[in-house]
Amino acid sequence: MMEVAASPTQSVLTPDQISKLFYRQQAHQYEVARSNARARKAKLWRLHDALVRHREDIRAALWADFKKPAHEVDISETICVNSEIRHAIRHLSSWLTPRRVGVRLPLLGSSAQIRYEPKGVCLIIGPWNFPFNLNLIPLASAVAAGNCVVIKPSEHAPHSAALLRQIVGECFAPEEVAVVEGDVDVAQYLLSLPFNHIFFTGSTGVGKIVMQAAAQHLASVTLELGGKSPVLVDETADLDRAASRIMWIKCLNGGQTCIAPDYVLVHESVHDALVQKLQAWAERYYGLTPAARRQSPDLSRMVHDRHFQSVKNLLDDAVGRGGRVAFGGQSDAATRYLEPTVLTDVPEDARIWEQEIFGYLLPLRRYTTTEEAIGYINARPQPLSFYIFSRRESYIEKVIRETRGGGVCINECALQFFNPNLPFGGQNASGIGKSHGESGFLEFSNARSVARQHSPFPSTNIFLPPYGSRLMNLALNWMIRWL
Ligand code: NAD
Repeated sequence: MMEVAASPTQSVLTPDQISKLFYRQQAHQYEVARSNARARKAKLWRLHDALVRHREDIRAALWADFKKPAHEVDISETICVNSEIRHAIRHLSSWLTPRRVGVRLPLLGSSAQIRYEPKGVCLIIGPWNFPFNLNLIPLASAVAAGNCVVIKPSEHAPHSAALLRQIVGECFAPEEVAVVEGDVDVAQYLLSLPFNHIFFTGSTGVGKIVMQAAAQHLASVTLELGGKSPVLVDETADLDRAASRIMWIKCLNGGQTCIAPDYVLVHESVHDALVQKLQAWAERYYGLTPAARRQSPDLSRMVHDRHFQSVKNLLDDAVGRGGRVAFGGQSDAATRYLEPTVLTDVPEDARIWEQEIFGYLLPLRRYTTTEEAIGYINARPQPLSFYIFSRRESYIEKVIRETRGGGVCINECALQFFNPNLPFGGQNASGIGKSHGESGFLEFSNARSVARQHSPFPSTNIFLPPYGSRLMNLALNWMIRWL
């Protein structure tokens, strides 16, 4: 078992102190904006090296927060952030280079370029489930783009939040980047300040509150939200591969992952075989018996009692309405433990089909035709992630073409998150805007158009008043048809 600090030392600022911090950043923003690529890369390296230095502390903080296994911490927190930082460092000079764009014939003699400028002072509000990953990846993008930043991590992972404050404090002056710990009241106070951009990761319901608050100052927003991410398994799928990946990513982080497979749509002809494979992989990963699985060091706990109870209620409701526990089902409220659980034959009116599960429950639904499966997905809010297991190229293409949502991942789970060359984010209910790599940099940048006239005899002379000259009419007639 891992060594942890007895309790984190939370630093809570008063509204007055938060305001002062914000206005200090506002005053300092143009100095940060002036920094060149070299200076920004140096800042990113500082953050990168601090995470390497604090690797064990990060593991300990997450163990204290919800018993997250140390290796999962490396895979899904520290490595993700550092690979994003290195990606940003590799590409920053080219991202910052103004992009020349062409001009149309009527504007001949002028030139045009796009410059990516920082938005200014940005607010990052993070969730508890990946407190380093989901606060620091946006931070890396914001720093690369030349912004000042306030981060408000979640109060539900207090050890992580306190360590985040310490790490950020080691890397940045508070007038450039600061972590403000606290709960909903602190978040709401921050939202009342005129930030230039708000990057929020969390639930869809709170996302709406954030967007409303942003509207008061017309701040731009990135919303990385949740929802139900489906898995589709057809009759040609490699069931062993499918089960191994579904079970792994479902159980990562205690099932408390926005891109976790939420439910499985499986072709009726392979339904029972898939259930058996899921059980086999769960036993292989976490132990052969319920008692062994309860002792497994590789299963996180639900983050707090309320969340444990809400996932447990989904299980009880599904079973109460006639759903069948094919595997798992045990729980222990005292330790917030819930066994990885596969559910079948869950009736349509069960609440598990309505809300994001965010825990160890995996319900399966049978489907008969592809149209039926696509229809089911499209009748619901657009998912953040969508997993397809199949060996038929035409089937995969059809399903991608006929559905919508954030990322798609074929014959694996979660790959779409780990590649910084891919934009990450949802659509409507699952999010607005994209993060990671260049997409993240653009999210924190204002694309500024710079047009310049070079010609001593600009073509725009033709369009000056008084209107109606012969040349002007000729030009307009020509432009309306041909340009
Ligand atoms: P949450 O929405 O409850 O909280 C997120 C943050 O918002 C926290 O910092 C919290 O203090 C703050 N907050 C909560 N209520 C608020 C309010 N009324 N006003 C202002 N701020 C408020 O989310 P959570 O429970 O921390 O995280 C779980 C959710 O996040 C899930 O829905 C999950 O799918 C989603 N999520 C999405 C992504 C993604 O990248 N799309 C990643 C992780 C989690």
